[in-house]
Amino acid sequence: MISGQSHLKNLDYSVVQQCMHCGLCLPTCPTYDATKLERNSPRGRISLMRAIADDRIEATRAFGEEMYFCLGCLACMTACPAGVNYAELFEHARAEAEAVKVLDNPQRSVIRGFTLRWLFMDQRRLHLLGKLLQLYQRLGLQNVVRKSGILKLLPKRLRGLEAMTPTVRPEFSADLIAPVTPAAAEKKYRVAVLTGCAQDLIFSDVNHDTVEVLARIGCEVITPPEQSCCGSLHAHNGEWGLAQILARRNIDQFPPEQFDAIISNAAGCGSHLKHYAKLLKGDPVYEKRAHLWDSKIKDIHEWLAKIGIQTPPQENTKPQTVTYHEACHLCHGQKITAQPRTVLKSIPNLKLVELAESTWCCGSAGIYNIIQPEMAGELLDRKLDHIAVAGAHTVATGNPGCLLQIQNGARQRGLPLRIVHPITLLAEAYRGSERPK
Ligand code: SF4
Ligand code: SF4
Repeated sequence: MISGQSHLKNLDYSVVQQCMHCGLCLPTCPTYDATKLERNSPRGRISLMRAIADDRIEATRAFGEEMYFCLGCLACMTACPAGVNYAELFEHARAEAEAVKVLDNPQRSVIRGFTLRWLFMDQRRLHLLGKLLQLYQRLGLQNVVRKSGILKLLPKRLRGLEAMTPTVRPEFSADLIAPVTPAAAEKKYRVAVLTGCAQDLIFSDVNHDTVEVLARIGCEVITPPEQSCCGSLHAHNGEWGLAQILARRNIDQFPPEQFDAIISNAAGCGSHLKHYAKLLKGDPVYEKRAHLWDSKIKDIHEWLAKIGIQTPPQENTKPQTVTYHEACHLCHGQKITAQPRTVLKSIPNLKLVELAESTWCCGSAGIYNIIQPEMAGELLDRKLDHIAVAGAHTVATGNPGCLLQIQNGARQRGLPLRIVHPITLLAEAYRGSERPK
């Protein structure tokens, strides 16, 4: 557990000093690729972190800004031959910037207080906001506001944010999924499904598809109607203490001893959920259970590939061409690259065409597209250019942030693309139809 003021000085020094400055990660880093500046590279950032840990420099505003210019995409970890744990360094570096308050201003404090410390700490608050947004959208007020031209009065940044507002689903996960779903075939496993926070409001249909697929292949599925955020948003934004509170809450709510697997279908959440033991290191009550928890967390593709996918009936499917965008926290964070392709290739009549630079970040990166819209926009353009060349009509990707980012980009460009989670395509193939909108 972190004690004292400096997160980087308290971090295990074997993590801090691991980088051997070889630079092999540089070509894989999207921010370095964009600027060609050493400070915007993994090697440059790690040097800054180490200098703070060694007490050679203070954490300054420039340091804080640099840590928030990093996408946290972890492409550098995949490339690194020395096994540098950039994920851990990155989380502690942002926590350092928050601890010394180098980025503080009143507006930022209010936004962080409202989102990280209030909204995402309690699902009921998130549901309330979701219901209000749902009403605003279903009554057509959003369209009226957009057509009225009133948005032109807003600063460019806020206009961009409004354009990214996701459509809230008519029903949340608990409205669609029973707390206990029996296995439709012979019961082989007992699993739990994490419905997420934003995912619960915007992609509750993906959660439903996940439960449906699991039940079909012999899992009894437990989906508690009340759940908590996984805490990845907090850990990635320097709120280490809040991330610990949420981790303890999740372990209590989903006792890992009771399940064969605890399933996540959101890459960003899954990547964080697998590291609760590090987050709760030194906790006398939770550390041991956190190790068991980490071993039980499975991404949905990973779990399906492990237990075996039943091929859906041929007659249920129509020919479709699909390309696959690899969410950073699935391919770099969890090293899951083959399993989603296995899921897609199990679907009859589905032609999978590979996407150039499929592992290059789309710019979503948690809330990066909100706090760094320009860089995120450049990455989105690059992704959409590759998608256009791939020539598929459907883009599959296993993370809600990527789904939204690519959906928004396709809409703005007027591209007639369908952007879906791979599990939705599998559920449709079992079911023999698309879900009604
Ligand atoms: S996490 Fe991504 S953006 Fe950050 S240093 Fe690594 S490769 Fe670059
Ligand atoms: S992070 Fe890894 S790849 Fe990058 S410079 Fe350091 S040792 Fe080399």
